[in-house]
Amino acid sequence: MARAFIGFGGNIGDTRQLITDAIVCLALRSELQILAKSCFYQSAPIEAAGDDYINAVIEIETELTPYGLLHVCQAIEQEFGRERPYSNAPRTLDLDILSFEGVIQNETELTLPHPRIIERSFVLLPLLEIAPHFFLPDLGELKTYLPKVAHQRIEKLPCRNCNCGEKAVYSQSAH
Ligand code: ADP
Ligand code: MG
Repeated sequence: MARAFIGFGGNIGDTRQLITDAIVCLALRSELQILAKSCFYQSAPIEAAGDDYINAVIEIETELTPYGLLHVCQAIEQEFGRERPYSNAPRTLDLDILSFEGVIQNETELTLPHPRIIERSFVLLPLLEIAPHFFLPDLGELKTYLPKVAHQRIEKLPCRNCNCGEKAVYSQSAH
């Protein structure tokens, strides 16, 4: 069994619902188990036009190979209406494999760990929420890269499965 992290993003339609439904689709597959899910984050598009993105990250355990997992992710993207008219186009749902156990490979179809893992706050924040001490051999502790992405606009959204957002709302309304 291998541990892997998958990042979700989208900016067309009800992305929170799409990501939630996509996670249910993954959870129904016998080849993988979901170990953790981050809250949702709302982030500004980077090198792309269009509306803000909604992002989240999950941790899974799987008996699939890295390519097997990629094909599952791509099948789910298709199921949810993903189209690729041009690079960085707005998207209903994007699933990226952020890391897959200790696998390091630089193939166009599947680069692991994901090449932009430390460059995007919408990846780092949800990933570090569920794996605060996440470490990659060549990069070290990922939390050390947070200052480099601090200028990228991102907001953690209130989440039903945790009390992070609710706590903030509750303490505001309590005053
Ligand atoms: P984006 O780079 O914006 O996520 P796409 O989702 O259209 O763009 O992905 C483009 C290609 O990236 C896919 O055809 C896929 O094979 C490849 N790819 C390479 N590494 C990965 C990875 N770690 N996770 C997902 N796709 C990957
Ligand atoms: Mg992708």
